[in-house]
Amino acid sequence: MKTKIAYTKPSITQLEIDYVLDAVTHGWGEQCYKYIERFEAEFCRYLGTEFAIATSSCTGALHMGLAALGIGSGDEVILADTNWIASVAPVTYLGATPVFVDILPDSWCINPQAVEQAVTAKTKAIIAVHLYGNLCDMPALKAIADKHGIALVEDAAEALGSEYHGEKAGSMATFGVFSFHGTKTMTTGEGGIFVTRDADLYEKVLTLSNHGRMRGQTKQFWPDELGFKYKMSNVQAALGCAQLERIEELVSAKRDVFARYCHLLTQFSDIQLNPEPAGVINSAWMPTAVFSKDTGIGQQQLLDAFREQDIDARVFFWPLSSLNMFAVSHKGKQHTPISYDICTRAINLPSYVGMTDEEIQRVSDVVVNLLQCRRVSRG
Ligand SMILES: *Cc1c(COP(=O)(O)O)cnc(C)c1O
Repeated sequence: MKTKIAYTKPSITQLEIDYVLDAVTHGWGEQCYKYIERFEAEFCRYLGTEFAIATSSCTGALHMGLAALGIGSGDEVILADTNWIASVAPVTYLGATPVFVDILPDSWCINPQAVEQAVTAKTKAIIAVHLYGNLCDMPALKAIADKHGIALVEDAAEALGSEYHGEKAGSMATFGVFSFHGTKTMTTGEGGIFVTRDADLYEKVLTLSNHGRMRGQTKQFWPDELGFKYKMSNVQAALGCAQLERIEELVSAKRDVFARYCHLLTQFSDIQLNPEPAGVINSAWMPTAVFSKDTGIGQQQLLDAFREQDIDARVFFWPLSSLNMFAVSHKGKQHTPISYDICTRAINLPSYVGMTDEEIQRVSDVVVNLLQCRRVSRG
């Protein structure tokens, strides 16, 4: 009996255990923000940005960032139809309207031309989500945002360690957000972070993040405005500090898993893997295989084949507009055809630090067998 292959899992060493033990033992009273402050400072240094606020989730970080931009009822926010719901939920929390546009067929990220066409007088922001570690076309999106005087936001939850011409994903826009959920490249259990270079925006989010209490407010229990409670705990931040010390190792291990998949699979022209165009470093959070249309291989067949081998492969994100709560406001399937098409013939492949050659071979064999069976049955 073969053991199950998980789709991802965190890499925890003695360093993480030592830091967490220290935080849970000593990180109280005067010390209760020590790891949080250290984590924020070190994250800024890694990313090459100015300010960071650690949060309890990426969703919370995005919620506060959008709130600080003043986004609310009557405003529109543009993002790709292909996304996890966390990238859009905060837009709706604020009463704004999400506008879903199509993705590019090669990067599976938001199509800048579609963004340009979707901008209206009500548009307040574009959310660029770097899907599965792949990078959005940031210069094109930045040009659109600048032209229309709107904010560009980076949801880099899946792209920690990815780079665009030397600039880190998450550091290139009005603000960026990350997730440290247990499935992400580095984890704090649950957690996230807000990052920006804009000092005013940072102050706003800092106040919002502290239940609306401004920095320097000396009156006790006196919020200056209505804020949020999305803080990361010191214990989580201790875990984050340890993971961040190992970040180069974690990212290179993910890239190495992806490279080994490429070695086994790029020879097959019927599948497309995550792209890494010139000038880009793809941190390879989630290796993904998209089967060409003429293989006739569909999502259910993929899921069945992996399940049969006890491999926990995951489906490509459904179009957000196909979900019940968004279907009504969307212009329909024909408006985002690529989002509706790619998800029917794509699968996320398992990837984690320490994945063995045998495990990678086992996953690749499923892909190769599917392709070969198809050839035989058609041939
Ligand atoms: C995981 C993820 C999120 C959500 O992160 P949480 O920390 O669970 O809120 C948001 N956006 C993207 C792109 C993600 O992959």
